[in-house]
Amino acid sequence: MAYDYDLFVIGAGSGGVRAARRAAEAGARVAIAESDRVGGTCVIRGCIPKKLLVYASHFHEEFEDSAAYGWTIGPAAFDWPTLIANKDKEIARLEGLYRANLEKAGVELLETRASLEGPHRVKLDGPRRTVTAERILVATGGRPNPHRALRGHEHCITSNEAFHLPSLPKRVLIEGGGYIAIEFAGIFHGLGVETTIVYRGREVLSRFDMDLRRLLHAEATNKGIRILCQQIITQVEKRPDGGLSAQLSGGGVEEADQILLAVGRQPNVEGLGLETVGIELTKTHAIPVDEYSQTSVDHIWAIGDVTDRIQLTPVAIHEAMCFVDTVFHGRPTKPDYGSVATAVFSQPEIGTVGLTEDAARSRHANLDIYKTAFRPLKGTLTGRSDRMLMKLVVDADSDCVLGAHVLGPGAGEMAQLLAIPIKMHATKADFDATMAVHPTASEELVTFSAPTERIRGGETVAA
Ligand code: NDP
Repeated sequence: MAYDYDLFVIGAGSGGVRAARRAAEAGARVAIAESDRVGGTCVIRGCIPKKLLVYASHFHEEFEDSAAYGWTIGPAAFDWPTLIANKDKEIARLEGLYRANLEKAGVELLETRASLEGPHRVKLDGPRRTVTAERILVATGGRPNPHRALRGHEHCITSNEAFHLPSLPKRVLIEGGGYIAIEFAGIFHGLGVETTIVYRGREVLSRFDMDLRRLLHAEATNKGIRILCQQIITQVEKRPDGGLSAQLSGGGVEEADQILLAVGRQPNVEGLGLETVGIELTKTHAIPVDEYSQTSVDHIWAIGDVTDRIQLTPVAIHEAMCFVDTVFHGRPTKPDYGSVATAVFSQPEIGTVGLTEDAARSRHANLDIYKTAFRPLKGTLTGRSDRMLMKLVVDADSDCVLGAHVLGPGAGEMAQLLAIPIKMHATKADFDATMAVHPTASEELVTFSAPTERIRGGETVAA
């Protein structure tokens, strides 16, 4: 049977666009459907606009610190609408690039909702018609969890709306202790907003190394962000003056102008017609796939956040390339989820790769921990007390570096580079044999002499 397309991709985010382009470059006839803007979460309402706002929020400390370096600057003023307009201009430019790249690769872009109508059949909404494809790739991403269980959740915003607030609130309350909560707390606080985080657990950033979590908490608190742990918001009410009032499980009440819910993201699976083709969802309402990103239907694949494996842009892109290698180049390739580096653009920033100390302890009996916390050189003139943390988790038996954890300026950039030796199973001896770059903060990573903690048979022994 002749199909209209060799590949039909649903969703033009990071994963979908990469798969569509690569498949088309391999000679396939490819269409991609998108009902929103091209670029997906990362480009339109995630990583890129977020990082621009993070840059904006750093300036006030730079202005303050400049005095110690001899600068005198006039009173600084910040204008939120200018930032948002400039950010939007850049996002529009990037969206244009995504569109141009699709076109250059020969991918047909269909700006409409698409759903599965049957084996090899895709229904398009506007104009209404059905097309056929030999293979279908679902890459519809995810969206913020609206937290419907919370009474008054309709008065709150998610990260989607945070990028388009008409004005900067005076006070913001944030529910959650993950990436988005922590990053937006830094953004709002840096822009002069009174910022409070409410987190249900004992310490924020539950999936990260405990030393990073504790120091981030301390440093963020030093800067003026309030962090209330082991509490949740139980109810939100809108007052007649438009302000919001949040009841906390600990009995307190917090007043705020905006409440940001950052309690995770959920896969976009509604209205996709998955039931029509017999695809059942996982417990987290994601599309289940095998190691090659294939669904239970043999001509339908799924990649990225809709599969809820690791919700990170580079992971979705990697899954897209593996899919194209497997299906269009005849090279079966499984995504490699080992040692995925990640950064939290918190203030101070976090960069991390490999095992946390706790995860390493659960897998290895004998470990050496190398750790240092210090004030970066730049802070010595300014009197700013921010500390930086560098930590290596080493398997004492093989000398292999299992994890590297950094908190402080440039940590995200460091994590990217640390990911290479860790992926290559570098040993502590390899780190030691590497000449330092001086004066940098990251030289600490190659100049650790003795471990700060030795763990033998699961127990800490004298260092
Ligand atoms: P996260 O999973 O990082 O954090 C969700 C937070 O909400 C956790 O602290 C969690 O607590 C808490 N939570 C979950 N359910 C509830 C609830 N019912 N009541 C109260 N608290 C709750 O999700 P985010 O929304 O921050 O981000 C989504 C994903 O997007 C991230 O996992 C990440 O993969 C990606 N992302 C990556 C970024 C980057 O690379 N820099 C930036 C932003 C997002 P607990 O810890 O106890 O489970």
